[in-house]
Amino acid sequence: MEILPAQPSVRGPAEWFTGVVHFDVIAPGTRSRGKVNAVHFAPGARTAWHRHANGQTLHVTEGVCLTQSRGADVVRVGTGGTVWCPPGEWHWHGAAPDRFMTHLAMWDGLAEGQDGPETEWGEQVTDEEYGRPAV
Ligand code: MN
Repeated sequence: MEILPAQPSVRGPAEWFTGVVHFDVIAPGTRSRGKVNAVHFAPGARTAWHRHANGQTLHVTEGVCLTQSRGADVVRVGTGGTVWCPPGEWHWHGAAPDRFMTHLAMWDGLAEGQDGPETEWGEQVTDEEYGRPAV
């Protein structure tokens, strides 16, 4: 068994996020391919559009998550809810406009010989896209 000390929170880079986002690396994917981050979004903050080679599970631990797949409606997911983003599906996720949100993000790194990138980043989510009514 190995006890891994807590690491400093990391500010989410501006090219990947709109607004203030910090994340804590829980599982770095160095001892297995499974990676876990706790991601903390300030009100109104969200990721840019992106997709994951091996998909991603999101589990909301605080607040309300807004998320959208390309071409679909924005969806609200409350605390305790879980989202599965299939491999290769363009999407974004973030906080509601009026409260903080934290989710666990869990995904697998690239397998040996698997073509990357592990996560491909696209354009920022515009205020118009973000402001569309959530279902
Ligand atoms: Mn994602």
